[in-house]
Amino acid sequence: MNHRNDKTPLGAHKQILCRGGFKTRPAAYRLASFKCRSVGARHVVPSPFFLAFFDASIAASWRFNIFFSRFIFLLVLLLALPSAAQDATSEPLPAPPSDIEHILVISLDGARPDAIQQANAPVLQHLAAEGAVDWNAQTVELSVTLPAHSSMLTGLSVEEHGVTYNDMPPDCPPIEASTFLTLASDAGFSTAMVVGKEKFCIYVQREAVDYTFAREGDRSVADRVIELLQTDPPEVIFAHFPNPDYFGHSTGWMSETYINELNSTDFQVGRILDELANLNLLETTLVIITADHGGHDTGHGTTLPEDMTIPWIAYGAGITPGTELSGITIADTTATVLWALGLPVPESDASRPITEAFTQEPT
Ligand SMILES: [Zn+2]
Repeated sequence: MNHRNDKTPLGAHKQILCRGGFKTRPAAYRLASFKCRSVGARHVVPSPFFLAFFDASIAASWRFNIFFSRFIFLLVLLLALPSAAQDATSEPLPAPPSDIEHILVISLDGARPDAIQQANAPVLQHLAAEGAVDWNAQTVELSVTLPAHSSMLTGLSVEEHGVTYNDMPPDCPPIEASTFLTLASDAGFSTAMVVGKEKFCIYVQREAVDYTFAREGDRSVADRVIELLQTDPPEVIFAHFPNPDYFGHSTGWMSETYINELNSTDFQVGRILDELANLNLLETTLVIITADHGGHDTGHGTTLPEDMTIPWIAYGAGITPGTELSGITIADTTATVLWALGLPVPESDASRPITEAFTQEPT
């Protein structure tokens, strides 16, 4: 399935996997456990006491059998009620928006939300003001690049995806848990990753996902994303900007240089947004901007709020402008992308789709 040249909204492919149920899920789902949250079946299990009661009834007369079958019906109903009430509390997910044709996820490595707010960062501040934002989103403990990006890209906790290392492993084997790019690719969407650190090779799970290591920093990342947009815009793009982390380590988080350099990163993000506008893709693209971690002094990796707090901004197609969000964690990024694509969301307590950022469509 290739949607590269058509203008079919992503909505047209929605719910296919959910409707098909677990039997049709792609092999990639074996790597990580997934479920369709909107499809919830619960079985009522009779208690042993009830079963003994039922056995006794078999020996009784037909009148008693009628009595018992009514009794059984009522009992089953009573047993089912608490279950039904429980189901009602885990509400089914709303339908994803129908006007999204492209999704662009941008990770600003080591970008502190308070630094974005202190810098002019006109592009990022515009996206936050005209989109949905949580300036107090949280990354995972082990607030370093690979564990945190693994949660951002898989929707799983560190325990679940198992990436506890931060250096590029020898031969760079891909991680086991599927990223949203792999899952989207397997479901037939065109996908691309542009990253600014070589060690992101651990996320290369499919040849079908176009992969670029842009080795010259933020500008080269933006260059490559713009090139992809101009040639054959992928439906799902992940772009990683490395500079904020680099300047945090070299000059200190919240130093003048670090904050000024965030404006340069902001400019590069703006170049991509301008290109989307030039190509008339802005209105049909969902943009999510976040970070893997913050930092303090010249490092990060602790559980300090300075290291743990990240921005989370959603803008564009489907998003209700001016929405203030709260309680977001880094892994919610994947759940939101998969939900927006109409794909099953991760079966993990670590993530949920941020549906409250989106305008509910009339059913
Ligand atoms: Zn770092």
